[in-house]
Amino acid sequence: MDKIYLTWWQVDRAIFALADHLREYGPDVIVGVARGGLIPAVRLSHVLGDVEVRVIDVKFYKDIEERMERPVITIPLHGSLEGKRVVVVDDVSDTGKTLEVVIDEVRKKGASDVKVACLSMKPWTKVVPDFYVFRTDKWVVFPWEEFPVVVRE
Ligand code: 5GP
Repeated sequence: MDKIYLTWWQVDRAIFALADHLREYGPDVIVGVARGGLIPAVRLSHVLGDVEVRVIDVKFYKDIEERMERPVITIPLHGSLEGKRVVVVDDVSDTGKTLEVVIDEVRKKGASDVKVACLSMKPWTKVVPDFYVFRTDKWVVFPWEEFPVVVRE
């Protein structure tokens, strides 16, 4: 699968674009989906003026293009979300199955409203985020992931 590499600068600009839309929504809690959603979740929290961050960990991928049967929650959400306006933050919505599991969990915890914000989405996803910055059918590589090193012969 083709890959696209994003820089920290591009990601930060994308996060500010998400923040502009999320300000109007006014979330009480940001749920960051580990690992990919954590850096965007923390950055969004600061940009939005210290919104509370909670973490959920969902494992689905063993490797690029190698998925497990279904996503499994490995770190559950802490505490109640009773009456809270929640935004779930992840890096990419690919099949959308991770987000389905997370949204379900957030609702079970009593959230009064749930929205989803992602940096990017794949055209085939079954969960189109309420807020996203770009669509791509490529594998997105974020600056906190692998780094392409050029070695001169
Ligand atoms: P889904 O459940 O939507 O298929 O997968 C979502 C998770 O897989 C995301 O949280 C993300 O961590 C990972 N993922 C899916 N596609 C990509 C991609 O193109 N790039 C990266 N870095 N992670 C991806």
